[in-house]
Amino acid sequence: MTVTHPLLDLAPMTAAHFASVERRVAALLSTEQDVVITQGEALLPLEGCIRSGARAGSTALNVVTGPYGQTFGDWLRDCGATVIDLAVPFHTAVTAEQVERALAEHPEIDFVSLVHAEAATGNTNPVAEIGEVVRAHGALFYLDAVASIGAEPVLPDAWGVDLCIIGAQKAMGGPAGVSAVSVSERAWERFAANPAAPRRSYLSLLDWKERWIDGGRTALPHAPAQLEMLALEACLERIEAEGLDVLTARHASAAAATRAGAVALGGGLEPYVYEAREAAPVATTLRVPADLDASVLVAKALAADPSLPLAAGGGALAREMIRVNHYGAGATPDTVESSLAALGAVLDGAGRTVDVEGARRVVAGSW
Ligand SMILES: *Cc1c(COP(=O)(O)O)cnc(C)c1O
Repeated sequence: MTVTHPLLDLAPMTAAHFASVERRVAALLSTEQDVVITQGEALLPLEGCIRSGARAGSTALNVVTGPYGQTFGDWLRDCGATVIDLAVPFHTAVTAEQVERALAEHPEIDFVSLVHAEAATGNTNPVAEIGEVVRAHGALFYLDAVASIGAEPVLPDAWGVDLCIIGAQKAMGGPAGVSAVSVSERAWERFAANPAAPRRSYLSLLDWKERWIDGGRTALPHAPAQLEMLALEACLERIEAEGLDVLTARHASAAAATRAGAVALGGGLEPYVYEAREAAPVATTLRVPADLDASVLVAKALAADPSLPLAAGGGALAREMIRVNHYGAGATPDTVESSLAALGAVLDGAGRTVDVEGARRVVAGSW
């Protein structure tokens, strides 16, 4: 006997259906470029684009404002590219002037990799201004917009981004497991001219161009990840219904309220990113007092309420940083309030003076 189940026995996804989801992603990015929906978590297009665009003989400027930039540098070096790392402290953002200076010092740079917003460190970079200087220099511009899409404007065409990679699992409120990239004409040319670009490979963007896009989007090269594709479609429908500008405004409010609320809470908590305009709308990072351990505070808060979107910083940041991941369904006044109240309770337990009521008032007032 076959038991019916909503996730099972689905009809195969048709090419027309797949193409319609692709068009919705293009609309989300306001782009005329080709969009490829990649059949895996965002690391798939992030890696595929670097392996397609960089090669021995390339010189890449890799901007490091958090852990993802470090990963990109490793891939670039692995491809044989000469890598110039432009690292800035995690409490700040990179400036267009810094990028411009690096490009002027190394005219041979032909690839620039940048993370738009870093959920892991809580900063966001001025991509529009950086895009202008990268464009003037002529390098290919690669952007990780996984943590910014849905939380703040992402405009690859207006900003001159050649490869804009997104994933649904952060501010879009969707699943991890499918991702997408918009690819400029220049980027396709660069990939095609690179003998080392992945071909006949799961990492290959060129396969999708040759077998799907150039064929008029009529025949799928292989069966798409069906459940994730349906979830991505549902997530895009929900964003269209809410309005992308309403969604980004919700994230901006969550970030502003968390920042102001944490200051009002006291107990030694401070915004990790010094300048509010450099703080990412997707997640707010907080610095804990030097004699406390952020991972212990977070563990205690989560023991009391496991549903809170709290995490300690990764790796070396585990002691000093708390992340409030107020994205997607978590970008609400309630989530921000209960996150700060929970942090207030554990700081109080650690003997700090906190003002939970004051934090509540500030959150409610700033929303
Ligand atoms: C979340 C995120 C990704 C995707 O990585 P996961 O940790 O696997 O979800 C990539 N880049 C950035 C900047 C991110 O914030």
